Amino acid sequence: MKNYLLNKNGHFGIFGGRYLPEMLIPIMEELEETFYQSIKDKKFKKELNYLYKNYSGRPTPLYYCENLTRKLGGAKIFLKNEGLNHTGAHKINHCLGQALIAKKMGKKRLIAETGAGQHGLATASVAAKFGFSCTVYMGLKDYQRQKPNVFYMERLGAKVIPVTTGGQILRDAINEALRDLLANPKETHYLLGTVCGPHPYPVMNTYFQSIIGKEVKKQILKQTEKLPDYLIACVGGGSNAMGLFYEFLDNENIQLITVEAGGKGIKENERKALHAARFQTGKLGVVEGFKSYFLQNKDGQIKETHSISAGLDYSGVGPQIAYLKSINRIKTTYALDKEVLKAYKTLAEEEGIIAALESCHAIAETIKLAPKLPKEKIIVVNCSGRGDKDYFITSKYIKTKNLIKI
Ligand SMILES: *Cc1c(COP(=O)(O)O)cnc(C)c1O
Repeated sequence: MKNYLLNKNGHFGIFGGRYLPEMLIPIMEELEETFYQSIKDKKFKKELNYLYKNYSGRPTPLYYCENLTRKLGGAKIFLKNEGLNHTGAHKINHCLGQALIAKKMGKKRLIAETGAGQHGLATASVAAKFGFSCTVYMGLKDYQRQKPNVFYMERLGAKVIPVTTGGQILRDAINEALRDLLANPKETHYLLGTVCGPHPYPVMNTYFQSIIGKEVKKQILKQTEKLPDYLIACVGGGSNAMGLFYEFLDNENIQLITVEAGGKGIKENERKALHAARFQTGKLGVVEGFKSYFLQNKDGQIKETHSISAGLDYSGVGPQIAYLKSINRIKTTYALDKEVLKAYKTLAEEEGIIAALESCHAIAETIKLAPKLPKEKIIVVNCSGRGDKDYFITSKYIKTKNLIKI
């Protein structure tokens, strides 16, 4: 893994780092130290694996999409079904890990930001399980479009605070969570929900998510006696993508493809992007404590973003993914809202799987790529979550069996 590792200052190449107010530095140092100690500790790993298996239901299936493969007539499509995790997405992987770390640090309270609500839900669940009090920050826009998750977070005992500043989405919720951490540093652990933020969050969450790729490797060898040729994942902050890719980074024969939210198209104006495709039009910047690509206007102000899926509606991207892009180890592309809805419908009708709209970005790319490849090639696509939470969005767009309204 020599080429892809972090340097001493918490950077991947020029990306990453820890750009924070002085007061937050000791908190990040304590977290970093506890994390590195924990992953060397057999007892910690045993407890984590126990929770992955018995609380979340891991390993999640790697499922051969026979009907979809036949319909598209090209490469074999395998779907890693992270939607079958407890709480409905891959987010529980890093929530369980961080909850154990917070417990080790003697923290009493978890705070989190959330976009789609999946991370808030997973955080509220582990808070209930481990006896932490819990506050979740959520942009007002997301709060309104992800009602079921708000309801469930509250039932789990969390306080959900709608954030009314800025674009009222994920980025604004992150700022609010950082403010809370500054005000209550002693008893609080900020359970950050993706591979973004200051060091050690990107490394730590990649570690906890890498279980996805580790399972895929075993499962695909068992089912096909070969390694995959392509791995495809959607990318918001990048945690489900890093989780799938990490185990395979050193194997350069395997193509890694990330799919961002193309929204209504990647044209834009100065103030607002109609997408969240940071790799297409983003620029280098330092925001929320780390250096990466962000959607910015020419003065460096962060732009509002748009995606049909709340979980990808974010202006930044994880530093390790940005680094992998800069050295061409990953290929980056995007899917438009309308392609995402079509993919959602196709997967449901062919395989009986209702995927999260975020995941349907990866499925849309799979549907484009598979027919161009020979039949012996293997694609593994990460289905990062299940689609129940999107009912209020999908039901609005998909009126009848054959009509998709955009
Ligand atoms: C949060 C979320 C995402 C995006 O986050 P990443 O950190 O990029 O994985 C993707 N899919 C689902 C289902 C999510 O809940």
